[in-house]
Amino acid sequence: MNCTHTNQIHEVKPHARGCEECLKMHDHWVHLRLCMVCGHVGCCDSSKNKHATKHFHATNHPIMRSIEPGENWGWCYIDEVELDFD
Ligand SMILES: [Zn+2]
Ligand SMILES: [Zn+2]
Ligand SMILES: [Zn+2]
Repeated sequence: MNCTHTNQIHEVKPHARGCEECLKMHDHWVHLRLCMVCGHVGCCDSSKNKHATKHFHATNHPIMRSIEPGENWGWCYIDEVELDFD
């Protein structure tokens, strides 16, 4: 199964060095995910706040990637497929 949303991927710059919402709440996260549509940085589903997934539900921006060092995989929330950002 392929992702039909790759045309929404932009050359984004991460908005922040951590999860934007967690930074505002002075909360903690486990891993960071970058929205490839707008550059939002949110925390992963292993984090208690799950801000990356919440960002998708709030904005419908379907594609994120990991911005953990050495990780280049991404994810489409709509197609539920892994993407490679090599
Ligand atoms: Zn897709
Ligand atoms: Zn967060
Ligand atoms: Zn976004």
